This record gives sequence, structure tokens and C-alpha cells, in this order.
Amino acid sequence: MIKTNNISFTFKEFDTVEELESSDRELVKSASEAALNAYAPYSGFRVGAAVRLASGIIVTGSNVENAAFPSGICAERNALSNASANHPGNIPMVLAVAAITEAGNSYEPVSPCGNCRQVIAEEEIRSGKSIRIILSSKNKIQVIEQGGDLLPLQFSRNNLPVTPC
Ligand SMILES: [Zn+2]
Repeated sequence: MIKTNNISFTFKEFDTVEELESSDRELVKSASEAALNAYAPYSGFRVGAAVRLASGIIVTGSNVENAAFPSGICAERNALSNASANHPGNIPMVLAVAAITEAGNSYEPVSPCGNCRQVIAEEEIRSGKSIRIILSSKNKIQVIEQGGDLLPLQFSRNNLPVTPC
């Protein structure tokens, strides 16, 4: 018997960053500033990410490219790894992403790549808390309440044959 399933999710969209609450505005600003620290000599596409942890502190990351392209890392994973390494137990709650080009802030939101979505999903499973995602740009701001929504039918520890410790 064939079953047809459907997966959908709802997200909010704002016209400008001024419509966000002040703590989210601050996070977007941190992400934009982090983008300035990107090392992107090959793409010229600089991305910044800022994570607000449960304690309220903000940890940032930016993309770091490499001549061996797969060795580069995205801003989102850089920020989440930074948080994990330097603030153990301090749960990521909100992640803002901003991108800049030579023309300034991107006109459209930049969404996490598949690798980063997988890492965001793992952090949510690890902590048992959703990570709210804020994708900022000149034209609009998108807010996704749960990072895992960006990765339906995700691979997770449930797919592994043994239970991890
Ligand atoms: Zn990525």
C-alpha cells in the first residue's frame, strides 16, 4: 500500500531588521560584523553567523575558505563549533546568519547549506532545545522557529545501529 505524506513548516518574514525584538537585532548585527572577518578570497562571498547561548552571551563565526575547497568551513558551523568548544553546556538558542558581497549586505537571505543544517539539527538533538534561525538581508528577514525544520527526514542518532553514549 502506498502512503502519501506531506511535510511543511511555517516561518515568519519581516521587512526590516528594525521589526525584530532588540535582542534579535543585536544578534543580526553581530552576524553582520562577523561576516567582515570572513576569509573568502575565492568566492568573495562573506558570511557571518552569531549564536546566542542560553546564558545570553553571543558567539560568532565566519566562513573560512581554503584553496582545497572542501577544507573550508561555513560561518554557521564555525560559530556552533566555537560555542561547543569554548562554552560547553551553554545551549545554543538562536542563530543569526548574514552575508555580504562587494555591494554590501546581501539582498536576499542566505540559508544554511546542507552540512550546516545537519550540524544545527544535531545541536538541537544534543540539547533537546530548538534553535531559532534568523536569516537576514536587505530585502527581508526570515525567522524559522526550529532549525530542524530546514532538514526534514534528517539523518540522526536514531539511524545508527548502536545508541551513542
Ligand atoms: Zn554551511
